[in-house]
Parts: sequence; C-alpha cells; structure tokens
Amino acid sequence: MTFAELKLSPNLLSAIEKSGYTTPTPIQAQAIPVVLAGQDLIASAQTGTGKTAAFMLPAIHKLAEKPIGPGKGPRVLVLTPTRELATQVNEATRKYGTGQRLKTVSILGGMPYPVQNRMLSGWVDILVATPGRLIDHMERGRIDFSRLEMLILDEADRMLDMGFIDDVERIVAATPATRQTLLFSATMEGDIARLAQRILKNPQRVAIAAQTARHENIEQRLHFVDDLGHKNKLLRHLLGAESVNQAIVFTATKLAADQLASELHQDGHAVAALHGDMKQGQRNRTLQGLRRGDVQVLVATDVAARGIDVSGISHVINFDLPKVPEDYVHRIGRTGRAGAKGVALSLVAHRDAHLLQRIQRFANIRIPVHVVEGLEPKVKAFPIDRKPGGKKWSGPKKSGFGAQQKRSFSNDSRKPANAGAGNGGGWKKAANF
Ligand code: AMP
Repeated sequence: MTFAELKLSPNLLSAIEKSGYTTPTPIQAQAIPVVLAGQDLIASAQTGTGKTAAFMLPAIHKLAEKPIGPGKGPRVLVLTPTRELATQVNEATRKYGTGQRLKTVSILGGMPYPVQNRMLSGWVDILVATPGRLIDHMERGRIDFSRLEMLILDEADRMLDMGFIDDVERIVAATPATRQTLLFSATMEGDIARLAQRILKNPQRVAIAAQTARHENIEQRLHFVDDLGHKNKLLRHLLGAESVNQAIVFTATKLAADQLASELHQDGHAVAALHGDMKQGQRNRTLQGLRRGDVQVLVATDVAARGIDVSGISHVINFDLPKVPEDYVHRIGRTGRAGAKGVALSLVAHRDAHLLQRIQRFANIRIPVHVVEGLEPKVKAFPIDRKPGGKKWSGPKKSGFGAQQKRSFSNDSRKPANAGAGNGGGWKKAANF
C-alpha cells in the first residue's frame, strides 16, 4: 500500500514525501479511506502509530477538495486532552498542509485571551483546541460552528480520564448534526463506548493490533530499589551511561519533578522540569529546548509529557511508576519514535510491586529485571508475581546482568527475554474488530 493508492491529493503526497514517510502505517492505511468516504470512524490506536496523520491527511484532503474560501468558523475541529498534544497536532497540520490555503488556529488553556479572540474573529479552517478553553470561548459567543464539517476527538479516553466528559458533550452538542465524527482512543471500553454510541453515526471501526502496543523497538528494563537514596544513586548512574542522548524522567508529582530537576541541575545535567503548574509559555520554551537538544534530561509528570514527540529521546526513566497502567504505555512511547530504538527503565521500590503487577498484566509483558553492579538492591526477595499466562513467577533469575551493564548501556547488547515478543506493535499488524 502506498500513499498514492490512498488517492490523496498531489499537494498532500508532496508534503508526505517531504516528511520522509514512504508507506502508510496500518492505522493510516485503514482509516484514511474511511474518512475520505465521509464515514464516521472509531479508531483504537496508541500514540506513536501515526494516528495524527491518519486523521489530518484526509481532513486536509477534504477541505482542499471543496474550497469555500475564507470564513469565520472552523470547518474541522480537533479536540485534544492536553496543550502539548494540541501543539503537536497543530504542527503536524501545518506540515501536511504546506502549500495549501488553509488557516489553522489553536485555542489552548494558559494562552492570553485577547490573542485568541483576535484569531477566532478571523479566517479559520482548522481549529485545534483543548476542551476547557474552547468552552470558555463558546460561552462568550466567540465560536461559530455553522461551517463545521468534521469533528475529531483525539485521545478521547484521556479526555474522559481528565474529567472533560461534560465539556466534550457540550462541544459536540453545539456542532451541526450533519458533521462527520472521528474518535481516536487507546481504549474502547466503558465511558468511551457509551460516548461513541451517542455521538457517532454508523461508525467504521479500526483497531491497530493489541490495544497495548508492545513497542517492539523499545527495550524495557526494571531495576528494584530499596529506598529513595538508592533510587537517586541508580538514576545518576543510568543518566551517566554513554548511550543516553536525551531522557525523560517521570515523577509522580509536580513537586517531585521540580525537586529532582533542581538536584540534577546541581549535578551538572542540562535539565528542565515540565508539569501542569507551569505557565504555557514556560512549557513551550522547555519543549523547544528539548527539541533543539539544549535540554538533555526532562523531568516530567504524566499530564505534561503526553504527546511529546522528540526523536532524540533515547531513554524514558520511570523514577516513580505511574498509578494508571495505561500511562506506562504512553510514557515509554516517548522514546523509540517513528521506528527508532529506545530504552525504557523503571525504578521500582518493593512497596510499588502492586503497581508493577498491574502494568505487567495490562501490557501483557514481564519486564526483565536488571541489576547494576555495585548498586544491587539489598532486599533480594522479590514479591511473588504472576506471569501473563497465569503461572507463578518468583523473581528474576540471577543471570549476571550486572557484569553486562557496568557503566554503559552500549555494553549490554543482550535483548531482554520478553521485550518485543508476542503479538506485534502498532506498526506491524493491523486488524479490524
Ligand atoms: P503519532 O502517532 O501521530 O504521534 O505519530 C508518531 C510519529 O510517526 C510522528 O513522529 C510522525 O511524524 C511519524 N509518522 C507518521 N506517519 C508516518 C509514516 N507513514 N511513516 C513514517 N513516520 C510516520
């Protein structure tokens, strides 16, 4: 399958070529024909599968196919859970829309209202927005949905997790019933299924492999730690490894992110923190620094880091495990972008064994345990876990990983037993459900 076979316009084909894409990813191959045919779509695809282009390419194609000239309200509305993801969608839109007369506007929380008011009063084709701020503008009568043809909910599961369900419903209710609706979500159960039933009309369903893509190009490792002091030492050691190009270190709280960033700064790392308490301008500057390579280590919380797509990120380190198993999958997807290799390391205290167990069950993996020589955990007895198949597993085999993994990751060419095995990542296999 090629992009030309998907019958995308010559302008788009040239933008795709400039982006360096040669073949459509599975979600693109399946979703693009559905969207071009004007049907509603419900797609289960993780970030990293090429889902943004899966909705943006056909959306731009349709706009260009039926030019109606400059006008006030958006013809396409994309709702995203976070500002970072919105910014990314916006950037992708500009990239794919190169050479076309399209006006894209983003309306995000944390940005000044007067600027947004000005943007909304002018010509808009594609509006990318986070729900809260969009509602604010709707309440002030600044949004005109009369031209709206397509509504796209990106990472809808996350929007609901973040408590945006009422806002999303209000926004949907304000759009014309004639619209085409696309819903992208990593999961399809519960509230998402109910929302889909309410807002989609005879949707086509597209699912990409397992909902928990295995990230085949990401090597996952686990380090057990005794306490915070041990965790800190191990983190310093891991960050000192030669093969770390750029790393995102995830902490459980905003406070911990700030604190750890300041400690790493004192150690001489080029570090920045990223979390939801920061002003948007500050967040943008930090992300630009990360993209430029000025920031080597980003210490972040889940909400802020969602959607970050920076190719230099070689390592994701879970300083704290996420409380929600899905977040583990999203976090590690920040590395190994677009087919590159990545390493995801989790530092796990014994009291967090239950979180680890939930993650392993959710992702249907067993993350290989590694030990760094000289930084072995004192407690050698690991909590009893269950293999995904249901068999009891009582901890790692002593297989001398320490010797393999002294100071540098590059010494460790061994593939972890489980990483990459199994039912295929998002790019490998596609299936309808
Ligand atoms: P997404 O899942 O939309 O966050 O996209 C993940 C990454 O894949 C982004 O860096 C895209 O630029 C890249 N990408 C999207 N489609 C393709 C493709 N067909 N070939 C190669 N890279 C792609």
